[in-house]
Amino acid sequence: HSANVQGTITIDDIAYTYYGSDEPVLKGISLTIQAGEKVALLGRTGCGKSTLLQLLTRNWDPQQGQITLDGVPLPQWQEAALRCAITVVSQRVDVFNGSLRENLILAKPSGTDEEFCDVLEKVGLSALLKGKGLDTWLGEGGRQISGGERRRIGIARALLHDAPILLMDEPTEGLDRRTEQQIMSLLLEHAKDKTVLFITHRLVGLEQMDHICLMDEGQFIEQGRHREL
Ligand code: ATP
Ligand code: MG
Repeated sequence: HSANVQGTITIDDIAYTYYGSDEPVLKGISLTIQAGEKVALLGRTGCGKSTLLQLLTRNWDPQQGQITLDGVPLPQWQEAALRCAITVVSQRVDVFNGSLRENLILAKPSGTDEEFCDVLEKVGLSALLKGKGLDTWLGEGGRQISGGERRRIGIARALLHDAPILLMDEPTEGLDRRTEQQIMSLLLEHAKDKTVLFITHRLVGLEQMDHICLMDEGQFIEQGRHREL
């Protein structure tokens, strides 16, 4: 269980090179995010933002340096404990063939139908409930969902999964401005006491971050508070 995870993340001089490539994608990145602190990560497409997020969730390990959670190196964490401690809104939300309920329950196995309907309403997806409700089938042989709906399913999952750390990779990409504002306030309200890393190209929500990192070609080129940059 993650009840005793505080959520302090330290990234200490990590480098990462994809297999088969000779150019590192991350070149000596260091950053500490204290428990409850909120950090935004900005940078041009391809500079390595999503790669950093993959390392934070330990999908891969860096070849140099280390990442710790509450002072303990990630490789020493049990995978299940990490999954409990960290919520991820990935850049590409994976919606699988299954009912709407099945697509949400993985985020909160103890969740009730009422909670699922509530959260769908919050993210503006209650139209998906028409007809078969939470039994509505998504994906092949079911309802084809749009890019924006897919994204909002990702947000709904994040709102259901109550973990001390929230990592978001362009959570509002492809949503219109008004929806973006609404979704960002939902996410930031949900994350009020959580550790947050927020990857974005946009400028919405930045004033609520404690710290902003600008990345270019696998390095941090500038860091500071919103009004300093
Ligand atoms: P964007 O803003 O477009 O999402 P990003 O900053 O998230 O970009 P990454 O996805 O981290 O960028 O990619 C960084 C670099 O690593 C890019 O040059 C990309 O082509 C390369 N890359 C990403 N994933 C892989 C992979 N699985 N194998 C090899 N190279 C990869
Ligand atoms: Mg990316």
